[in-house]
Amino acid sequence: MSETTETTYKPTSPNSKLDFASVWEYDPAPESTANVKVKERYELFIDGKFVKPSKGRYFPSTNPATKEVITEFAEATQNDIDQAVKAARKAFKNEWSSLSGKTRGKYLYRIARMLQERAREFAILESMDGGKPIRESRDVDIPLVAAHFFYYAGWADKLEYAFPGKTPEPIGVCGQIIPWNFPLLMLAWKIAPALACGNTVVLKPAETTSLTALKFAELVQDAGLPSGVVNIVTGAGQTGAEIVNHKDIDKIAFTGSTGVGKLIQKSIAGTGKKFTLELGGKGAMIIFEDAPVDQAVEGIINAIFFNQGHVCCAGSRLLVQEGIVDQVIRKLQDRMEMLIVGDPLDKNTDVGAINSEAQFETVNKYLQIGLDEGADVYQSKCEIPENGYFIRPTLLTNVAQSNRVVQEEIFGPVLTVQTFRTADEAITKANNTQYGLAGGVWTDKGSKIFKVGAGLRSGVVWANTYNKFDPTSPFGGYKESGVGREGGLHGLAAYVNLR
Ligand code: ADP
Repeated sequence: MSETTETTYKPTSPNSKLDFASVWEYDPAPESTANVKVKERYELFIDGKFVKPSKGRYFPSTNPATKEVITEFAEATQNDIDQAVKAARKAFKNEWSSLSGKTRGKYLYRIARMLQERAREFAILESMDGGKPIRESRDVDIPLVAAHFFYYAGWADKLEYAFPGKTPEPIGVCGQIIPWNFPLLMLAWKIAPALACGNTVVLKPAETTSLTALKFAELVQDAGLPSGVVNIVTGAGQTGAEIVNHKDIDKIAFTGSTGVGKLIQKSIAGTGKKFTLELGGKGAMIIFEDAPVDQAVEGIINAIFFNQGHVCCAGSRLLVQEGIVDQVIRKLQDRMEMLIVGDPLDKNTDVGAINSEAQFETVNKYLQIGLDEGADVYQSKCEIPENGYFIRPTLLTNVAQSNRVVQEEIFGPVLTVQTFRTADEAITKANNTQYGLAGGVWTDKGSKIFKVGAGLRSGVVWANTYNKFDPTSPFGGYKESGVGREGGLHGLAAYVNLR
């Protein structure tokens, strides 16, 4: 935008929605679901077969954009978890751990290729079950899922080179518990390195997004993976707890809330089980006055709104250097007005549905807390569907560092805005939460990137961008954001014992 346009910019008035609509409205472009088959009910995947849950209980799964029940999943209880662990142990002992790395790699490459072949189907299912825009599941989630399997397939026959001077050995049976924000991607983060290193797994997807994990189980069957190497059990928190407490599990890998992470750490204390925990976050994005502001605004929109803020490393706090705060807020509001909120299966949609009723209530609760704390609330004025769980992109300004909306993880499309004068102040404010998962810095100066990057107590710091992922990069948190790293060589190290 030229300087002239900049100075003649008029703030968005309450009635200007129509102006934006006339410029930005697209015709609907819904992705077809014609070739995607969802069964009425999914069983547990244990020892290479789909089996009924021992207590015969099932629970529904809802499309959060329509509130329609799309299928139901089996609830795994103690006996089922026991069967799954036994199958995983048998597969570990009798076959998988003693196969050559090359052969394990072949299976992983096969899975990666099959995921690519069925990418569109997985993307549609991910959007139907979890509410995320198809553009994101199609262009980000599923390609990254395949990339993780390719990457760790490549390591399977090179483990002896990964840890010079050490002999890596598989850990054994791994219990893996994942959340609902990136269902298949979190599965890939967990299963691909575990299998590459010779372990077997019992994985539990989140109760609101189990569909793609069970489709993945079908793919595992099609790939001819030996029975018991991958077991998928569905259920809610109690099912997860049964995995955590099972005596014959050697390692727990968990991604989810800090509260549950702490519970898990307590439960396994003293048992000798290994663990990695990837927990909550409250990522700060720091914009200096010398930053390319338009580029920064685009990055911020991407960092907090594109996946409804359903990202543990989401940039949910914005720290703007004082001199440009008005300009940044104006440009953000301007861009927010152009975001299309609605049907996750529409290819034009930027912001989809909040994942579940419970999460919808949580985000609304925090909006109320923000109001009570005295924040100024700006929401984009777009239409939202009446039926599903949708929340308009929201800015909270006039907030203080001690406010709950600044300190606590909201996990929704809500961005708080604060200001700073110096780099040291920005670093202090960014670090002043219980979390330390990710952060970002926008500036024209490499020296500031290094200063802020070194000062942030965050597992990841992005510079002049945000939310960029790659299977070769380790990911994980400081402080209450977690223990251990996933991805890259570090992610491999989390699945071996080194002798
Ligand atoms: P979120 O707030 O993101 O839903 P949770 O930590 O509640 O995060 O859930 C993440 C995963 O942990 C889900 O698969 C959930 O079923 C599981 N889970 C919830 N409670 C427990 C528990 N007490 N023990 C083990 N797993 C749990």
